[in-house]
Amino acid sequence: MTSSQLTEAQTGLEATIEGLQSRPELNGARGKVLKFLPEKNRFQVRLASDESCLSVKATNLQFEGADRADAELQTSRVTSDRANAFRVMEVEGRGKGVIALEMLKKGDALWVETPVLSHCRPAQFANSPSWDPEEIVRLWDQFSALAENDKGRLWSLASKNNQFLPPPQELVQTFATNSFGPEENTRMADVADASTGSLASDMLFLLTARLNHSCRPNCSRRVTGGKVTVFAARDIEKGEELTFSYIGFWHDHRFRQQVLQGNYGFVCKCPVCGLPPSELAESDARRRRFDRLDDELPKLRKAKLWKKVLQTCAELWAIRKEEGDETSMFFVEEHERLAREKLGKSKK
Ligand SMILES: [Zn+2]
Repeated sequence: MTSSQLTEAQTGLEATIEGLQSRPELNGARGKVLKFLPEKNRFQVRLASDESCLSVKATNLQFEGADRADAELQTSRVTSDRANAFRVMEVEGRGKGVIALEMLKKGDALWVETPVLSHCRPAQFANSPSWDPEEIVRLWDQFSALAENDKGRLWSLASKNNQFLPPPQELVQTFATNSFGPEENTRMADVADASTGSLASDMLFLLTARLNHSCRPNCSRRVTGGKVTVFAARDIEKGEELTFSYIGFWHDHRFRQQVLQGNYGFVCKCPVCGLPPSELAESDARRRRFDRLDDELPKLRKAKLWKKVLQTCAELWAIRKEEGDETSMFFVEEHERLAREKLGKSKK
């Protein structure tokens, strides 16, 4: 069955209320889960009995089991052993997002997905927001070859701000804000520096693009062989929203807000951006220090200062831990591996 064949009723997520202390008469009642309310950290549920709505914590909901696999997963592009563990749903104030319906352990692979669009920016335009007409044609040709169902899902990622653009331009904007390259937490310059000298392709994944942003994300990704694997970067509770970071860890909150508002059109209300001013200043200082250290790494490598490379990597991991971010840093791991090899130490 393809997702276009699924009716609204079939895609709805149902749950039974349990363990409510304040209104025990509701325990055992069934209802439809309408959306996630991030500010309250609750789900909005419409009761089957009288159509009334109430907001309920994940711990007080027993989600229906066998048939709750997401409509977004009914596609050959996604494979998942944990299809019942998460769900794409409306997240109040943030469009759609992905919510954990089960407890996830650090390192759990959630899904593997192949891209719907893939595009390599010519080196001379790589840092330019405007696209060459020939590039636009290449992207539009890929889009034109897609099944109607995929086209529909792709347009559902488009921002309302771009709806008056000509379709090829709207496609470019949708691609630019929803795609990513193979390296997580790595600067474009580092990727361009790689042995081939050419830039890596950016890819758009329909399900993965549903992950919303947090400056303290709980999911990591790894791109290998043209597929993305999304995994839990730390233990995740039932009822938590799954998140990625859309922006480099090393930026302070002012810069992050500027980019997130300018490029993605939202104000970040994540736990880091919501810190009281004095703690936010400390967070910014740590991230600026990370920026300086991260910048040093290629220079230390060039100078063959391997002990210093290891020291710097350890400091980078320590800063990330202090910031509550446990997502992967393949760029740093690569430096550590190389330094250990050069120093003749075996890894762990
Ligand atoms: Zn934030």
